[in-house]
Amino acid sequence: MQYLKNYLKNRDPKNQSLAAISYLAAVDHLHKKAPKIAQSIVEELKGQRSHLKLIASENYSSLDVQLAMGNLLTDKYAEGYAGHRFYAGCENVDVCEEEAMHHVKSIFNCDHAYVQPHSGADANLVAFWAVIVHKVQSSKLASMGKKRLEELSDEEYETLRKHLVDCKMMGLSLDAGGHLTHGYRHNISSKMMRSVTYSIDPKTETLDYQAIREQAKKEKPTILLAGYSAYSRRINFAKMREIADEVGAVLMVDMAHFSGLVAGKVFQGEEDPIPYADIVTSTTHKTLRGPRGGFIMCKQEYAETVNKGCPLVLGGPLPHVIAAKAIAFQEANTGSFQKYAHRIVENAKVLAECFLKEGLRIISGGTDNHLMVLDVSSYKITGRQAEEALLSCGICLNRNAILNDTNGPWYTSGVRIGTPALTTLGMGVDEMKVVAKNIIKVLKNTKPAWNSKKEAPSLAKFELDSSVKEAVKSEVFHLLQTFPLYPELALE
Ligand code: PLP
Repeated sequence: MQYLKNYLKNRDPKNQSLAAISYLAAVDHLHKKAPKIAQSIVEELKGQRSHLKLIASENYSSLDVQLAMGNLLTDKYAEGYAGHRFYAGCENVDVCEEEAMHHVKSIFNCDHAYVQPHSGADANLVAFWAVIVHKVQSSKLASMGKKRLEELSDEEYETLRKHLVDCKMMGLSLDAGGHLTHGYRHNISSKMMRSVTYSIDPKTETLDYQAIREQAKKEKPTILLAGYSAYSRRINFAKMREIADEVGAVLMVDMAHFSGLVAGKVFQGEEDPIPYADIVTSTTHKTLRGPRGGFIMCKQEYAETVNKGCPLVLGGPLPHVIAAKAIAFQEANTGSFQKYAHRIVENAKVLAECFLKEGLRIISGGTDNHLMVLDVSSYKITGRQAEEALLSCGICLNRNAILNDTNGPWYTSGVRIGTPALTTLGMGVDEMKVVAKNIIKVLKNTKPAWNSKKEAPSLAKFELDSSVKEAVKSEVFHLLQTFPLYPELALE
């Protein structure tokens, strides 16, 4: 591999980018040591460049974000938190962590920020435990004579532990658009405490706050959890706060999907969770366009417990990723990010309008965020077949269960579509119309293939006319040529 040499030879020095030079040098260098690894980085770039990325949970982080992760910060242990470490020599990690926290506070105007969680799932675990430890442990310890944990007898500790796991959370169900970590039976969240879920109204397919209120009054959850992975409407957090207050619950919001829309000031007033929630978790890599990771914001009363995320839940923080988070937060703290966030939603609305005009069914009838879920059952195909047929044409999205899905969570009857990544490439309203037209063309022309014994149609295999496939692939190719991914990265 001689990417850097070719880049320097072929590109006018005035148009050379230092980020690209660093990147290409790294790939060339890695190739000498581990050719398979270097090649897979290059192949991933080629793969991403040849598909329209409509996966609602993915994005393209900047080269600056990516470069901040590839360095010696990864070598450092920094258990504890900025200014309070269990390891020596963490001054430079402190600088990165404080910088990241500073940007989070400035963007979201929150009381306290914690930027260590390695992922959204970890952020939720820290938040769940911080809440129940704060609520239950402090009151039980008071009744046990204010002893420290180390001072409790085994019997006392067991009594306390039982109180902790007896807590209950109430989050949105998976088939209504909630996330696995919101109390799904196969996730630790429903095993470490009791879990009940609320759903959407089957008619409107939107949240019914009165129904949530009634259920919360009956269930009396310790944590009322708002947030989603596949729900295309905004949430009124003032209403969720009222419900939490009525039943004495802590209001937790998981804004993993829409934190970029909060940062970008698309969601404001009662749609901004920060003023209303006790604790807010997020990923950094979806609409927020940062590195893979998570973070937490909370009211001051939870700050001390949240800061103990390590060792409560986490092992050592990842200082190199925290550095990349700081870069991403800095990028999100700008006017241009706000414009980007507004364009994400504008693009999603245009896509949805095109689908609705063609008579496709969108769950809840449309979108006012960055995603939508299409019901593909009217085409007599499963979500899995739709996903695979579209992928074969260069359109990458993912299948998604819909409410009471007769095809179950593996094959599903829906597909989830999101606009954050294409918006990052610079695509706008005109391009969304082309994207919608091609998705519709593929869906209309995809049929289930029959299983090998020709007894029943397969739920996974599909047939798609090759002329349709070639026509769509060519339009996808043209779009991607016009809006290239990382144009400064010349890998030739
Ligand atoms: N919370 C929500 C709402 C999500 O959508 C996701 C990921 O899709 C997560 C949490 C988990 O994030 P991660 O994959 O970083 O653990």
